[in-house]
Amino acid sequence: MNEVQPRLRPVLYNLGAFQTAPVAITSAGRSYLLAANESPLGPLPSVAAAIAAAIGRINRYPDGEVTTLTGDIARWLGTSPERVVVGAGSVAAIQMLFEAVCDPDTEAIYAWRSFEAYPVLAKLAGMRPVAVPLRDERHDLNAMAAAVTPQTRLIIVCNPNNPTGTVVLRGELEEFLDQVPPDCLVLFDEAYREYVRDTSVPDALTLAAGRPNVVVVRTFSKAFGLAGLRIGYLVAHPAVAAEVRKTRLPYSVSHLAQVAAASSLRAEEELLARVERTVKERERVRRALLDLGWSIPESEANFVWLRLNGESADFATTCTVNGLNVRVVPGEGVRVSIGDPGANDTFLEVAAAYQRHR
Ligand SMILES: *Cc1c(COP(=O)(O)O)cnc(C)c1O
Repeated sequence: MNEVQPRLRPVLYNLGAFQTAPVAITSAGRSYLLAANESPLGPLPSVAAAIAAAIGRINRYPDGEVTTLTGDIARWLGTSPERVVVGAGSVAAIQMLFEAVCDPDTEAIYAWRSFEAYPVLAKLAGMRPVAVPLRDERHDLNAMAAAVTPQTRLIIVCNPNNPTGTVVLRGELEEFLDQVPPDCLVLFDEAYREYVRDTSVPDALTLAAGRPNVVVVRTFSKAFGLAGLRIGYLVAHPAVAAEVRKTRLPYSVSHLAQVAAASSLRAEEELLARVERTVKERERVRRALLDLGWSIPESEANFVWLRLNGESADFATTCTVNGLNVRVVPGEGVRVSIGDPGANDTFLEVAAAYQRHR
């Protein structure tokens, strides 16, 4: 092989492709999808009907400006449409924000371990990724503030944090924001906002008041059950939102996604009732794990985090053998989504059996 290789960006060679493991199924054909923090339930009839009715238009391009839905989201949040930018999934919205700040020789700070998309997006954007280790499974906001340099353009706070489920609270966040230079954006990733029950966790939109550098990103993928349609949004100061909007790929947010999201906002009550059941299951699962002797950080999201360190891969294999699809972070831990009660029971049985043989 002495062919000349086309020259690509060196950063790509060190970037793992985003991979999802093959779906585990038992010999009896059982499979539980607890690896991606999805809603365990399919679409509400009203949302499914809205999508079905919209199919007749898929020969046409969608509304590239996402006008109607942007207005709907703004009204629902009690803010103005100038602040709202819709993307093809919140990851796309985050990528748009990276595109908006990524001049050469700039840095993005985030906690680690956190959402695996952050380092990838930073590197793709040509930014220097600065990963600040968690402390007791939580964001170390003091260390993150101390990591800021004149090159820092973006700081990400994932609250609740994926994969640990832990949160940072209003007081410490306000203190943190007061330390960050006002020309540096702070992104709050609130993908799991709807599952938060701790009232000391602020709605980051309230932190944005009087702070033009605060951006909040949320998604329809989790609590709203639209992961497969790819739709999310960010909320920013109008001057920031106007520039971020320019980075959106033309027509990237599909018509079906726009219609489904609008319909989901109208079905908010039913969807939040589902979320409430998941929250109850989360507490049941965590309590059962604690009773079994596991140490599990409090989770304000729709998953639990098992810090297994060197045992992580072994436990994940045990799960897989039992048809449980979970997320393993090799050498660190295993993240298990809260599913329907039957799936959660199966997981608890596997966790109990594993614990007995440890
Ligand atoms: C699941 C998740 C998202 C959602 O991504 P989408 O692109 O909206 O599906 C965003 N941020 C975090 C931290 C997540 O865990």
